[in-house]
Amino acid sequence: MLPSQAPKHLAATATRFAQGVFARACDMLVPPACMLCETRTGDQGGLCGPCWSALPLIERPYCEQLGTPFGVDLGEGALCAEAIANPPPFARLRAVMVYGDAARKLVSGLKFSDRTDLAPWMARWMVRAGGELVEQADLMVPIPLHARRLASRRYNQSAELARAIARQTGLRFQPLALARARYTPPQIGLSTTARDRNVRGAFRVPQQYRSHIEGRRVLLIDDVYTSGATAKAATRALKRAGAAEVAVLAFAKVTGAKVGGGII
Ligand SMILES: [Zn+2]
Repeated sequence: MLPSQAPKHLAATATRFAQGVFARACDMLVPPACMLCETRTGDQGGLCGPCWSALPLIERPYCEQLGTPFGVDLGEGALCAEAIANPPPFARLRAVMVYGDAARKLVSGLKFSDRTDLAPWMARWMVRAGGELVEQADLMVPIPLHARRLASRRYNQSAELARAIARQTGLRFQPLALARARYTPPQIGLSTTARDRNVRGAFRVPQQYRSHIEGRRVLLIDDVYTSGATAKAATRALKRAGAAEVAVLAFAKVTGAKVGGGII
């Protein structure tokens, strides 16, 4: 080491030491616990071993368009029956995991319990699951909440996920490019047809944001993809505003379960 580098080196060591002390102090105040089962773990913001291995992560093989996992490999570009029978308006959908207990805990923590600290962790998994989509998009737009719901929750969980993805990847994030045109009752307990009716025409691109969308490849960010009614209505609004392509990246996806069963 050159003598001139010594003070810098010492300063860095001191900073690292201070950071270490701070992290240990935080751990003493809030001992690191698994985000799902609250078992003590080594690090803040992690999962314990058993919870990690039980996560229902969606891995290939899956439907190229809807990202629905396949039991057997049907070859490259294979589509599921739903994508063939009822082609969605968006190009592709990817999600981190199948919606179940783990996703329910994480999403409702983010949504209702002010656990915005979960967003960076969930976003990392979304970037991993939808890396290609992130790479090919020009910008990200979250599924918006109606102003009335935003006022009671104070933040939009999909926007928090998009913000964290933007920080991690540098992809542009435009939280206001898609708006709710009207208030829609919650989708809980509705059948697929009723969900479609409920959100039809519910979104619009405000005039001042049309230039952000026109000719662009938009990545729509959602927390849970259930029947697809919301994502499809949002996609149609973006396309009406001239989006060249829309893809959807969700944290969790409901698969094979009854959508109207009051899941979310
Ligand atoms: Zn655990």
